[in-house]
Amino acid sequence: MDFSSDNRMGVNPEILEALHAANKGPAGAYGHDDMTRSLDQVVGDFFGTKVSAFPIISGTAANCLPIAASTPPYGGIACSEGAHILRAECGAPEFFTNGSKMLPVAAQSGKMTADALAALLAAYPASNTDTTVPAVLSLTQVTERGTVYTLDEIAALTRLAHERGMTVHMDGARFANALVTLGCTPADMSWRAGVDVLSLGTSKNGTICGEVVVFFNPDRAENFRRYVKRAGHMMAKQRFVSAQVVAHLANDLWRHNARNANAVARRLHDGLARQEQVTILHKVEANIMFVALPAACVQALRAQGFAFHTVGQDAVGQPVVRFVTSFLTTEGDVDHLLAAISKACA
Ligand SMILES: *Cc1c(COP(=O)(O)O)cnc(C)c1O
Repeated sequence: MDFSSDNRMGVNPEILEALHAANKGPAGAYGHDDMTRSLDQVVGDFFGTKVSAFPIISGTAANCLPIAASTPPYGGIACSEGAHILRAECGAPEFFTNGSKMLPVAAQSGKMTADALAALLAAYPASNTDTTVPAVLSLTQVTERGTVYTLDEIAALTRLAHERGMTVHMDGARFANALVTLGCTPADMSWRAGVDVLSLGTSKNGTICGEVVVFFNPDRAENFRRYVKRAGHMMAKQRFVSAQVVAHLANDLWRHNARNANAVARRLHDGLARQEQVTILHKVEANIMFVALPAACVQALRAQGFAFHTVGQDAVGQPVVRFVTSFLTTEGDVDHLLAAISKACA
């Protein structure tokens, strides 16, 4: 039973059917196919505004290519100190931007605060021509700690960034899970809150590989194709990536999947909260949670075949583990894990 990450899961049958349906005859290459041509409209309808949308096969590239298109090499990329782009992309932002500077901002439970961002920006004044120019603000929604920014929190951060002329990027690897949590529209959580460009992830929520870079101001996408091509991410057979995205957004498949992941995470959270030897470390607002457990309990769970990541230790030296639920995790899976923890911790 696997609680390591939602990217370990398979895919919805609807996605496989969409691939099968896209596999008919020849089609234009490099995005010049009907499916990819429809993306601006399909994704635009989803967001209730005009967009430029580009299918990309990895989240790392879907983050770093639009960031690269939004900063000069002497620019800086502000992100939370725990951001995926800072910690888990092997320097890809620096690589794709020709060495722009990462500007980590202090965060609480994964969320950057407006005060911390303001302090960072003050340390890089526009008047100083010898210093890095803050060019991009990148926010992750759901955050890497499993929390979710409220719409007001996003708006407060994007306002500060826009006052400095920065581009706001959102890493939406789990955008659907956050939407389900907030119960708002995709528009509310993106362009209406000041997001300029979004990396909309779908692979953790039911596709094989179907991330989308969404520019909410199509003018800004003018040279984006060149960034994609130059980086070796211009797939010839893009129709198969686009088909996954279209199927994912159709019939609320994204919502159905994310609802399940969040609901079983809530069930796991509630069960863990009842166990005395378990400490839940951050608010559980989507499908990721961090908990401290006795080392013997962690060992017992591993011996029984449960898979999950250990991510460090808490203040008293207990292992901290991360549990992630997915669109395929069942209530039965969660109850099984809870029973095993209850027994191992007893
Ligand atoms: C998984 C993930 C990504 C994308 O990762 P890839 O493995 O490159 O697809 C980006 N951001 C966050 C927060 C993630 O969890």
